Amino acid sequence: MNCTDFLAKLTDYFDGQIDAELLTEVKEHLGSCHHCEVVVDTTRQTIDVYRGHQPYEFPDELSSKLRGAIMDRCRKHVETTVGEKTSAGVK
Ligand SMILES: [Zn+2]
Repeated sequence: MNCTDFLAKLTDYFDGQIDAELLTEVKEHLGSCHHCEVVVDTTRQTIDVYRGHQPYEFPDELSSKLRGAIMDRCRKHVETTVGEKTSAGVK
């Protein structure tokens, strides 16, 4: 197994969706390749951080505020566009 093979199997490795045979190859590669070892460490830390934040829910209040702001902007945009068309027609 080389680094490219390893990286292709990285997701499977973390999902635990990997054959025992392949897992042995992965571990062998990790033992001999510092670069991939670092990749695994970093990925594992990222996953831990992500899992540590669960269950994380976007606050309702914030999401409705955001939605309101976006809707506001869209409405203004539509009004501006329509206004320009109208004034152009009047000319
Ligand atoms: Zn490697």
